[in-house]
Amino acid sequence: RLIAATSASRSEEALERALRPKLLEEYVGQAKAREQLEIFIGAAKKRAEALDHVLLFGPPGLGKTTLSHIIAAELGVQLRQTSGPVLEKPKDLAALLTGLEAGDVLFIDEIHRLSPVVEEILYPALEDYQIDIMIGEGPAARSIKLDLQPFTLVGATTRAGMLTNPLRDRFGIVARLEFYTPQELERIVTRSARLLHAPIDAAGAMEIARRSRGTPRIANRLLRRVRDFADVKGDGSITQDIAAQALAMLDVDPEGFDVMDRKLLEAVIHRFDGGPVGVDNIAASIGEDAGTIEDVIEPYLIQQGFLQRTPRGRMATQAAWRHLGLTAPQRSEG
Ligand code: ADP
Repeated sequence: RLIAATSASRSEEALERALRPKLLEEYVGQAKAREQLEIFIGAAKKRAEALDHVLLFGPPGLGKTTLSHIIAAELGVQLRQTSGPVLEKPKDLAALLTGLEAGDVLFIDEIHRLSPVVEEILYPALEDYQIDIMIGEGPAARSIKLDLQPFTLVGATTRAGMLTNPLRDRFGIVARLEFYTPQELERIVTRSARLLHAPIDAAGAMEIARRSRGTPRIANRLLRRVRDFADVKGDGSITQDIAAQALAMLDVDPEGFDVMDRKLLEAVIHRFDGGPVGVDNIAASIGEDAGTIEDVIEPYLIQQGFLQRTPRGRMATQAAWRHLGLTAPQRSEG
């Protein structure tokens, strides 16, 4: 089972790579981030300098990795990719940094998970393109400075608030990625369907788009599942009807909420009277990690107006009660 799961996720990864837009003009949505980057990339190229360090933040699947590849492609430089948890020792990062050529992009995913000793190495690297490394051991140990080529760090994180202040301060460009509109996701689904040679009509693409939690990764994943369904239950073409049937089978409800979304809303409403309730209590109640709730589940529920973040905890909104077929109790907020 483990092997099957690994190869399934490998083929998902391969498909994900295949569906990634390669250039800024193919990158749908995120107008603000795109506009910023266009200007700064243009300026860096004109002056033949390394682009300022870039911090991308936002929930998983919104296109941070994709954007980092696009930045390197637009600059015409190489991209080296790693992630916070993978860089265990200072020398792991030092090896990567010294291998960079002038102008290269170093992409560090989950940058909030860098260990403090590794992060220390990064500060002078980002500021002065220099690193301090220790040579030898014991009393003979000494530190030497190594010069690096000018480079651009692109860091990605699900929440900017999880970065230490000194690290956050070293990014010249900070872009927050937003959830995509159904119209934007429809363009992404249509493009992906074309690349996958899956016939789809506009209503079919819109049905998938509306129910993808504002997230391109989910839209592409649902598209593949709907395509399978269309191949087996229909003639292979994806219509609104086929998409709706397939998504119902996958437990994606008409609002696009999945099983975990509904579990969370039900817990807040049924077990905590609609809140306010702290994230840790929700986590214990639905058996999900508090970090996953904050990074993955609740941002979309909040953005859609089903959940509210208050100083005393999370509260279900009227829309959430209605979604579960209930009437919200009258409250006197004071
Ligand atoms: P993240 O790094 O934020 O988790 P990714 O960059 O891996 O997200 O994006 C997930 C998938 O979504 C990619 O395979 C890509 O095909 C698709 N995608 C993301 N953003 C866009 C976009 N703006 N336009 C088109 N496709 C996108």
